[in-house]
Amino acid sequence: MESVGDYHKWEERPILIFWETTKACDLSCIQCRALAMKDPQPGELDPEESLNFVRSLKDFGKPYPVVILSGGDVMKKSNLEEIARELHSEGIRYSISPSATNLVTEEKMQYLKDNGMVSVSLSLDGGSPEIHDKIRGVKGAFQKTMDIIDLLSKLGIKVQINTTVMRENISELPRVFSILRNKHISTWEVFFLVNTGKASELKTLDSVKVNDVNKWLVFASFYGMNIRTVESPIFRRIQIDYMASGELSGGKIFEQLKKITIDNEGKPDSTKTSPVGTTWDGNGIVFVSHDGKVYPSGFLPVEVGNIREKSIVEIYRTSGVMKLLRDPSKFSSKCAICAYNGYCPGSRARSYNLNGDPFGNDPMCDFDALHKRYDFTEVFV
Ligand code: SF4
Repeated sequence: MESVGDYHKWEERPILIFWETTKACDLSCIQCRALAMKDPQPGELDPEESLNFVRSLKDFGKPYPVVILSGGDVMKKSNLEEIARELHSEGIRYSISPSATNLVTEEKMQYLKDNGMVSVSLSLDGGSPEIHDKIRGVKGAFQKTMDIIDLLSKLGIKVQINTTVMRENISELPRVFSILRNKHISTWEVFFLVNTGKASELKTLDSVKVNDVNKWLVFASFYGMNIRTVESPIFRRIQIDYMASGELSGGKIFEQLKKITIDNEGKPDSTKTSPVGTTWDGNGIVFVSHDGKVYPSGFLPVEVGNIREKSIVEIYRTSGVMKLLRDPSKFSSKCAICAYNGYCPGSRARSYNLNGDPFGNDPMCDFDALHKRYDFTEVFV
């Protein structure tokens, strides 16, 4: 089987470290991965442990990974400002992903900006207050998100929007997309629901809809939007297919989303899609929970170590699970023989969630991996 080409194994260091600094959060989102509570939970890294963790990141060597300070709500981390100062003084780039509440103030954002913060990511799951507030579990959350976007823009702080795709909001996606464009936001990270945390109670989308939404996201990227997906690496397979063939077609949902987008935004100026990602759970990405446990990602609850016992560098480089995640040819699924597996290795989190096996099939993939479709050699030249 011909493959898409050499892919990047992020063996030495991740490019992104997601740190769940606290589980405390004042929102009540229906898809919350963290099962967040109002108050910090027992076992949370204390201020000194948090600072030691930051210092330990230098052992990865340069270029240091970028740290995403998340939660829960990172704004409820007791020593956030101290952590930010430490990251800044160590020369480690970081971003935050706060909940949209009154804890996001101009003063705090300016302070973090002055102390090296690169960007802020905010969640937007609906293009209207009705849907977004329902998903976030708090009335007024939509307006608060809009206000914070405006505040960050006034302060000159880069904003990224994160959206979780679920049954409740498929039809909202073009409206969310238009909001991003109106607010001059150029990075959209689109999550596909994995039934972990509170989302265990939600119904997932079927693979036909998931494929159509991913195809539409490739179309949306033609407007100059930098689109990345989380737990939907088939987006990359669709990108690569498009880059090889110049064709992009889909089913009913794709056509509907595309039509609404053209009605709202006009036709796209370009036919170029976003850069094709090279990371996935455990390969370039690692997640540290509030109590120091380490996982390949926030959606793959297979513990690979604890920073209270071993350094993050040792865990990342030597954990057997992490090493295997970086080698799709050894997976126990069709992904092992798939030509795309260096870019789309399937969602490891969804495989674990549905099969109990992080190396199994991603049920959202409808690709016949034995069927060779293109000569890919020219795609990445
Ligand atoms: S078979 Fe696996 S590696 Fe291939 S496109 Fe599907 S999910 Fe990705």
